[in-house]
Amino acid sequence: MPKKIAVASRPFRVYTRRDLDRIPQLQRFGNDELLAMKAVAHVLPFRVNDYVCDELIDWDHVPADPIFQLTFPQPGMLAPTDIDRMIDLLRQDAPDAELQAEARRIQLSLNPHPAGQVELNVPQLDGEPLPGMQHKYRETVLFFPSSGQTCHTYCTYCFRWPQFVGLDELKFAAREADSLAAYLQQHPEVNSVLFTGGDPMVMKTRVLRRYIEPLLRRELDHIVSIRIGTKAPAYWPQRFVTDDDADDLMALFEEVHAAGRHLALMAHYSHPRELSTAVAQAAVERLQNAGATVRCQAPLIRHVNDDAQTWSDLWKSQIVLGAVPYYMFVERDTGPRHYFEVPLARAFDIFTEAYRRVSGLGRTVRGPSMSATPGKVLVDGIAEIRGEKVFVLKFLQARDQNWVNRVFFARYDEQATWIDQLRPAFGEQEWWFESMIRAMQQQGWQPPWGDRSQVRKRVTHFGHVEWE
Ligand SMILES: *Cc1c(COP(=O)(O)O)cnc(C)c1O
Repeated sequence: MPKKIAVASRPFRVYTRRDLDRIPQLQRFGNDELLAMKAVAHVLPFRVNDYVCDELIDWDHVPADPIFQLTFPQPGMLAPTDIDRMIDLLRQDAPDAELQAEARRIQLSLNPHPAGQVELNVPQLDGEPLPGMQHKYRETVLFFPSSGQTCHTYCTYCFRWPQFVGLDELKFAAREADSLAAYLQQHPEVNSVLFTGGDPMVMKTRVLRRYIEPLLRRELDHIVSIRIGTKAPAYWPQRFVTDDDADDLMALFEEVHAAGRHLALMAHYSHPRELSTAVAQAAVERLQNAGATVRCQAPLIRHVNDDAQTWSDLWKSQIVLGAVPYYMFVERDTGPRHYFEVPLARAFDIFTEAYRRVSGLGRTVRGPSMSATPGKVLVDGIAEIRGEKVFVLKFLQARDQNWVNRVFFARYDEQATWIDQLRPAFGEQEWWFESMIRAMQQQGWQPPWGDRSQVRKRVTHFGHVEWE
């Protein structure tokens, strides 16, 4: 039986744009400020629950409070002309259709589909595309369960924001666990399945079970780990502790462990305050008691966590709980990025200063890392090579696995916030991988993964089947 931990339960209550007037703590704001929030919330997704409002936001320090910035719409997220136009329409009580049309126009100006997400990553089963999956890196398949396409609370910087404002119409949602299992059976090179969303932990345990149990079958023994990308340990830790089906969830995770797979909760913690409550700490403890590990990742975000102290405190809180610092990401090139972005040079400094303050137990973290079209690109250093100041970059993940762990160099640029603003160092005209990316984009290239005539079967010492 999962161990019980004494934490009071609370019902889940959620507020969306239409409820802004009903959030008690917002009473402190004037009408104009509320109107600006509503204007932004017509364009960008907004959803918050009362645990976040009551326990995580420090209302004596709004609007600067980091968790308030993380969850509530801020006027600076839209260009001044855009927010003024939305405010005017709201003041005039404009018809819904007109508000929606204006919101759409603004949304489409915010680069809703960065990094080749749409055209390049959709895997196929028997010649048919599998829209609820992405297979970008050889070892790992991303799976987007259709019932996990929302979150307990939305982050204002979310890079998946288009699906929450109806721009994507659940483009990524997979209906069936069957197609996942069938795909994996044909792809022995995959050893990790990553459930993502939205947030898969909005699903009831009995629904999640339908997706996870098929992955425990013997014929999928090449699957070493099942990962769940989630913000629930921060926004609704009750999911793991006091919700009706929390015990059943722990039992499911114990089954995964007993079946010889590893379950890793890829927890999105943006700020140490999210780990400060008794229920948040209890969630981590219960997950570990069920044989799961908690690995922690978040982007570096201006107004939320853009200083070294916050990150070293965050990593230290994780170490205390036995959770593992994993990735520091760079804010993606979409949505209200101008409000949140931090230049790569400054991101590297913040990372380095925070990294210096933790012991080796915290230096499992890697970053700052950009999830870009060619792969996950780490800013690994700033150096001077033969008189030229450069960024030392490195592929942590790549579309072509032969690029992984390869370093390359960009001209130093103090302002650049994303790889597309960087230029290759030493006078190179383009990146060495650029022609290969073009070929992938132009010729509908699919990686030759899963071609069994090209691979050899081997059983590891641990009893896993591996193909090499
Ligand atoms: C980050 C990511 C993964 C997982 O990468 P790891 O380095 O194994 O954590 C898989 N697929 C995509 C598309 C990703 O962005």
